[in-house]
Parts: sequence; structure tokens; C-alpha cells
Amino acid sequence: MMGDMEAPAPYAPCRLCPRRCGVMRRTASAEPPGYCGEAAGLRLAGASIHRGEEPPITGRGGSGTIFVSGCNLGCGFCQNRQISLGLRGNPGAAAARRGAGPFKGLGRLVDTEELARICLTLQGRGAENINIVTGSHAVPALVDGIAAARRGPASGEGRGGGPLSIPVLWNSSAYEVPETLELLSGAVEVFLPDLKTLDRSLSERYYNAPNYPETAAAAIGKMLELRRLRFEERAGSGEVMVSGVMVRHLVLPGHLDSTRKVLRWFAEHCAGRALLSLMFQYTDMAAARPADFPAERTGPDRRISEAEYHTVLGWLREYGVEDGYCQEPPGSDPAADAEWLPDFERTNPFPSELSTPVWHWREGFV
Ligand code: SF4
Repeated sequence: MMGDMEAPAPYAPCRLCPRRCGVMRRTASAEPPGYCGEAAGLRLAGASIHRGEEPPITGRGGSGTIFVSGCNLGCGFCQNRQISLGLRGNPGAAAARRGAGPFKGLGRLVDTEELARICLTLQGRGAENINIVTGSHAVPALVDGIAAARRGPASGEGRGGGPLSIPVLWNSSAYEVPETLELLSGAVEVFLPDLKTLDRSLSERYYNAPNYPETAAAAIGKMLELRRLRFEERAGSGEVMVSGVMVRHLVLPGHLDSTRKVLRWFAEHCAGRALLSLMFQYTDMAAARPADFPAERTGPDRRISEAEYHTVLGWLREYGVEDGYCQEPPGSDPAADAEWLPDFERTNPFPSELSTPVWHWREGFV
């Protein structure tokens, strides 16, 4: 465990991400905390074999997802809010402000060796890749853990039978700066950035980051510089992605102008160099909104309509975007959609057909 151990220099002062807080994340509690609320140690919420990613990422064995606690963005409709929202939106935030101490999203501290063991266990259980979800605020610790896994097993349970040899995926919001992405250049083979919007007012309202558009565009440009698309044929898995960039965009109901801008930008800057993954799974999270989270920031209160879905498909054709993946439109039953929302209090946060747990913040290896 990291405890009060001194953090490496990149955290003190911390300017890892576009928030550029400048706080000293040297010990177990950063005082005052930065925007992400995280201190010196890396905290994880869970790790599992996930079968719901895009086909060349899921393959046959599934994707070895590792969920990092905390986040440097602030999406009003985050489906992972139990682990991500930290000081800004958790039910404990009000108590924290009253002096009860910083409240953080679910998770626990892991050191370099434990992170390496998690990676190797995922590999040992057949994962096609290691898929690091939302780690932008913890890049140095993650890079150290990946490097340790690449060196191979140390001791104890959770060994995968040899050094880490599967690709590492960086699954992020793209709210990142090029110099921090540079730190990932020796550790990560595949980048999976979101491009949430290029609209400044939406960025401010829903993501609490007015500079998201130019920041994310520059970050994706850097990712394209770092990695070229490459696939490998694997027995039983078909083609799996072993290098490159796949840009994800979640279509927001009622905000199709934002999607149109994103598609046009992708066609102009990424076509032929990256894949696009269009997601239509937007779910209204208002019911899960903590009492002190501003109502106007929680996002649209409905799902994508059939007409909106077909409009977006028409734009794909108009802009000639062909390389990538497109989710099915949502079904007619919102209650059924809600069953797919994660609950990180459970050992398996996702439905069993989608995910097999390997490590949980409370249980350890499972
Ligand atoms: S990683 Fe956290 S503390 Fe560091 S600059 Fe970003 S939000 Fe601030």
C-alpha cells in the first residue's frame, strides 16, 4: 500500500491534466485537493473481463478492463459516478465541505506490484488486452504498474504465467495534455479517446470544462502521432486491434448539432488514420443525481429517438465515414437499459453476460 509514501515528481505540483491545479499530491491526502480529488496514491475500483467493447477490442477473450477511481472531468450524466465523481458530485461532497474530510468515489489504494498483478491476472484469464478506464489523473502510477507487469510476475497470487505481452489500451475522455500523453508513449499501444463535443457551451454545461473542444482535439492529434492503426488475426478472435486510435462519440439526445460537428471534424482530421465508434447508449441519470449536483448539468432527460438515430447515420454517409462501429438504437424499454448500468458496490458491477470480475476494491482478487 502506498500510505504516506512520497509521490513521484509529476504529482507535486500536479499539472498532469488541463486543470493544471498545481496542488502538491505528495502524500495520502493532497491538501488542498485538486479538481480530481486524488492524492499521491493510485486508487482502483475494479478489474474485469469485459465483453461489451467494440469487436476488435473484445475479441474472443474479452477486454481486461481496469477502472481507475476519480476523474478530471465532470460529466453530469456519468454512469460511473460512484467511482468517478469525488468531491464534485458525490453524496458525501456536502459533508466534506462541512469539514468531514474529503469524500472520494469508491476505490482503494494499490501499489505498483498490485497493479502489475492485476494486469497479469487479466492476461492469465484470457483477456485480449489491458483496458485502462479513465486514468488521466494518475498517468505516472499507471505507467509504473504497466512497466512492472511487462517485466513479469514478482511473487504471490494473481500471476498470469509470464510477462505482460498483450496490448494496453488507454480509454479516456481526451481531456488530456500532449506532454502527459507523451508519458504513455512507451506503455500504451491503443488509444480509445472520447470526443464528447466540439461545442464550447455544451462543454461547460455538461462536462464542466469550457476548453474541452480544443483540448480534446489536440489530445487526439497527439494520439494519432503516437500510434498507427494495426490489427492482428488471432485464432478464434478474428481481427483484434493491437495499435492505433479509435475515437468514441456518445450522441446526446436533442444535441445533434454537436454530433454533426464531431463527425465533420473526424472526417477532416482522422479518416483513414483512426476508427470511429458511435454510441447511442445515452441514459438519463437524473434519478441517481446527488442532492447537491446542479439539475441543469445532469443532461437530457430522454433517450435517443429513432429519427435522431437515422439522422446521424445519414451524416455518416454524407461525410464518407466508413471505418468504425455504430451501436444499435436504444430499445423501447428504459427499465431494461437501466439494468446495464454498473454498480461498483457489487463484486461484479456489470451484468454477468457482459463481465467477469477479477478484482474488486473491497474484495481484492475474486
Ligand atoms: S490530475 Fe487532478 S490534481 Fe492534477 S491537474 Fe488534473 S485535476 Fe488537478
